[in-house]
Amino acid sequence: MSKQIEQKWTIVHPEFRCDMCGGRILQGEHGYVQVDDHRARDLQNKYRSRQVSRQFPWEPINLALVEPKEFVKWQAVHDRCDPMKLAGYFFYTTDLQTFEEVLQTNFHLAQKKWLAYTDWPHFLQRQLAPYDG
Ligand SMILES: [Zn+2]
Repeated sequence: MSKQIEQKWTIVHPEFRCDMCGGRILQGEHGYVQVDDHRARDLQNKYRSRQVSRQFPWEPINLALVEPKEFVKWQAVHDRCDPMKLAGYFFYTTDLQTFEEVLQTNFHLAQKKWLAYTDWPHFLQRQLAPYDG
């Protein structure tokens, strides 16, 4: 007895909405997904030095002091709307045309220690699954 396997696949392409003008960054349009990675590294260093400079290292770590409360925001922008003018860390939206490419980018970013100081997971959810609330 064989069970029919239901194939799940999608014909929907990832599409980003510009955080500046609110318009969609259409396929073939120039745009970026970007973050100020210098600020993310600054935050990382700030929290790392707090961790090191604890007065009584034998005391349990107060997570409120170690875990970031502030996150550097990712944004999607048309190149014409870009306020950072490519000063930060970015990907071209033309390189994020399939969910496989988004996943590859996600793997690539996961190796960056400063990623935890950005809102990457929330950004992706907001951009790519906007109907989940
Ligand atoms: Zn725009």
